[in-house]
Amino acid sequence: MPIAKAYSATSSTSGLHAATIERREPTPTDVEIKILYCGVCHSDLHQARNEWKDFMPTMYPCVPGHEIVGRVTRVGSAVTRFKAGDIAAVGCLVDSCHECEACKSSDEMYCAKGAAFTYNSPDPYTGKHTWGGYSESIVVNETFALKVPEGLDPAGAAPLLCAGITTYSPLRHWNVQAGQKVGVVGLGGLGHMAVKLAAAMGAEVVLFTTSANKVEDGKRLGATSVVISKDPEQMKPHTGSFDFILDTVSAEHDINGYIQLLKRNGTMCLVGVPEKPLPIMSIGLIFGRKQLAGSLIGGTAETQEMLDFCGKHGIVSDIELIPIQKINEAYDRLTKSDVKYRFVIDMASLAAD
Ligand code: NAP
Ligand code: ZN
Repeated sequence: MPIAKAYSATSSTSGLHAATIERREPTPTDVEIKILYCGVCHSDLHQARNEWKDFMPTMYPCVPGHEIVGRVTRVGSAVTRFKAGDIAAVGCLVDSCHECEACKSSDEMYCAKGAAFTYNSPDPYTGKHTWGGYSESIVVNETFALKVPEGLDPAGAAPLLCAGITTYSPLRHWNVQAGQKVGVVGLGGLGHMAVKLAAAMGAEVVLFTTSANKVEDGKRLGATSVVISKDPEQMKPHTGSFDFILDTVSAEHDINGYIQLLKRNGTMCLVGVPEKPLPIMSIGLIFGRKQLAGSLIGGTAETQEMLDFCGKHGIVSDIELIPIQKINEAYDRLTKSDVKYRFVIDMASLAAD
């Protein structure tokens, strides 16, 4: 099997360090991709540090990374959509059963038999587990490889593969329309994509942040107003006014204050996955028949739709390009909400190890 350089965590406290992994030989339906850029999602940090041990324990060694853009190096004999030299992208999914109701509805992430995620899923090809994009190459079934629209910067496009689709999918599912009032909670990787996408859909976007130094950026990215969520006086005027609120926060926080801000029949959707449960006051939902929901990434068809939407609107992520040797520092900054607004690893830096 081909050997690839990578960065892996060997335990919840090891941090990430240089390693080598095996990639499979491409099967007839596979594409092999040399990874150029990989975004750094807060899920990578949660998993490398085993913060989801109660519901999704980490399999070590863990090679995170599911915001991948690269160049195709080899294709299997039955591959039709890619050829060597093409730019291709891979997001959070690398396999699913293709037969269950969810897969047939292009919701492969909810595959009844369990979708294979880009990292930390059992890998039937190797008998080990899947390894992600903090690596020089990846091999995937072409069904799970996506096309990046021409004109989008490949480094800035990488975060679309998770942060982009995770925010696009609920905005579409709950049918956000031009003129509706949409709240986005948290201005990190997901949050800044949510602001850009909801604004491009024509919504009136209000950003809720805990970071006073992100107010100007929030407006630049497309929010019509920015609320410092720790200040009740700034929250109060928005009571009962939102059609939809998307909560992207990665840590414990109070969601009851946001439910108060929904209109009758409004929906608050959680996409952030804090380590611990969040307490809910049921009365806040009851008065006004409000809905609290969740959403996981998006299927391959919708991910391509999102990429095409971004191509049409010229949307990419605001990124800070880092060499892979700075990954542990980047994780420490993520825990302090110090990201503007997605770290992306320049994978050429792997050559230095
Ligand atoms: P991120 O870049 O670190 O952004 C998270 C933001 O949340 C921070 O920038 C900060 O924004 C806010 N925040 C952090 N700690 C907070 C606290 N204690 N109280 C209130 N606000 C706080 O993370 P990300 O990559 O966007 O990911 C966000 C979450 O979504 C993670 O839990 C990740 O695992 C999850 N996720 C879920 C899916 C899915 O399919 N559902 C997909 C990808 C990621 P401000 O500075 O503006 O307050
Ligand atoms: Zn992610």
